[in-house]
Amino acid sequence: LDKEDAVLRVEGLRKTFGGLVATDDASFAVERGTITGLIGPNGAGKSTIFNLVSGFYEPDGGTVTVNGTDVTGAAPHEVAAEGLVRTFQTPRKLEGMTVREAMLVGPRNQPGESFVKLFTDPEGVRAAETANIEDAHAMLERFEIGHLATQPATDLSGGQMKLVELARAMLTEPDLLMLDEPVAGVNPTLANTLREHVRRLNEEEDVTLCIIEHDMEFIMNLADPIIVLDQGSVLVEGSPDAVRADDRVIDAYLGG
Ligand code: ADP
Ligand code: MG
Repeated sequence: LDKEDAVLRVEGLRKTFGGLVATDDASFAVERGTITGLIGPNGAGKSTIFNLVSGFYEPDGGTVTVNGTDVTGAAPHEVAAEGLVRTFQTPRKLEGMTVREAMLVGPRNQPGESFVKLFTDPEGVRAAETANIEDAHAMLERFEIGHLATQPATDLSGGQMKLVELARAMLTEPDLLMLDEPVAGVNPTLANTLREHVRRLNEEEDVTLCIIEHDMEFIMNLADPIIVLDQGSVLVEGSPDAVRADDRVIDAYLGG
């Protein structure tokens, strides 16, 4: 929390489901420019934290600040407007959509908004839609999956799906991109491709990243610092080497 330039700051965050405490007084910050790893045993509360900070769950306590703005309890599109966008551990169902169509279903295309504009500004909507399609194509190209644009989204491999999710999230031009298990179920070759894409986003486009990942080899070779979550709270934060050597972390994984 002594980070001066934090894109995301979480303080005393708490979330319960019935009698279960999923997030217990969690506090941490994601420093601008970093690739921050979020690890911890199954059920530690990693995905819940993503849901809390991105507006998908409402916290029972604590605060979430994005780029200095308090977004505690804000809706997902409001949090996205402040610069935070996340992907899901299990990608959303995209039945009946092509990859290109799937790309256009995102925080930037609020259905209510374009519906109103359809009546007040039909030409404007058409121009905006054309621009969005072009943006979507350019983004797919950039992740080297332009050839998938007209394929049914349901025909994609797990890894291709993750790349589409990444491309779609990038359409919103986030300051902080949060990825929930980006290489789960992805073959090693595509996992390497994904890691290089993430590195490039960080180094060349100043995107800050916060990544939940179970694959230790992947995350330890990509992220610094690493935040370790255990039973809903932050256990340790440090460099990959420090975290790897920390007895508390080893105990948490063995005990978890
Ligand atoms: P992780 O991503 O670290 O594996 P989660 O954040 O998914 O962990 O889950 C933390 C705990 O909260 C688990 O015990 C899980 O069962 C519970 N949990 C998560 N989401 C819900 C929910 N929507 N309803 C009830 N319990 C939930
Ligand atoms: Mg999870």
